[in-house]
Amino acid sequence: MVYTQSVIKSAQAQKEDTMPSIDFGEQLPKAGGTYVNIKNAGDKVQFRILAKPFVEGNHFFGSAGNWDVQPCLRINNNADCVHCNRLTVVKKAIPKTESKEEYDRLLQIAKKSVPGCDPGITFNFPIINRNTEGFAVYGATTGVRNKIDAELKLGTKVLEVDFLVLNTGNKGKDKFSLTRLDSAFTRPLSEKENAIKSNFVYADFEKLVDGSPDDEGAIAFEQNSEVRDDGDVPF
Ligand SMILES: [Zn+2]
Repeated sequence: MVYTQSVIKSAQAQKEDTMPSIDFGEQLPKAGGTYVNIKNAGDKVQFRILAKPFVEGNHFFGSAGNWDVQPCLRINNNADCVHCNRLTVVKKAIPKTESKEEYDRLLQIAKKSVPGCDPGITFNFPIINRNTEGFAVYGATTGVRNKIDAELKLGTKVLEVDFLVLNTGNKGKDKFSLTRLDSAFTRPLSEKENAIKSNFVYADFEKLVDGSPDDEGAIAFEQNSEVRDDGDVPF
């Protein structure tokens, strides 16, 4: 996709129209109600992945209940992002140290000095919700996306098996658990689900969600892709 300035501007205008108050699942995604909701402890969903996700970055300014959400143009549009640039400046000012722990400590202080500038990252997967037999979007954290990637590297055919993601209620990187379900104990796709799979069009999905395709090397998001499940988005 070619991102012209007008596309970027219209994306910004779209976001601004709906600000400032935001509740996850209501306003943030263009896909609205098609997002699976697993924000409470014990919530879970069994799903089949249809294609690679879109990476969506947002900057969250303000505080809980009154978030001012700004799209990250670096992650979403491969363009210059003023907020990320502010983070880069303070990161570059971190003194050199041999100790990883010391660096991490200084990095946290640097991030806190520019609140909101560390983008929250969501990986928007097109899925079949095996519980409802319907199409849905699953906004995965970086941690879950990395677990799916790890399955792929182990040789799992990730588009042919079901996964179960559970909100454990824990803090940090254990907030969401991902389980690959043995196909021997998984219901085969129904006629309805097979139709969703064969009619799925990636270009239509692109219109439904924000962000850019999760292509290797397509977007320089690696510097912010450390596993931090409960830090990806602040709710
Ligand atoms: Zn940014």
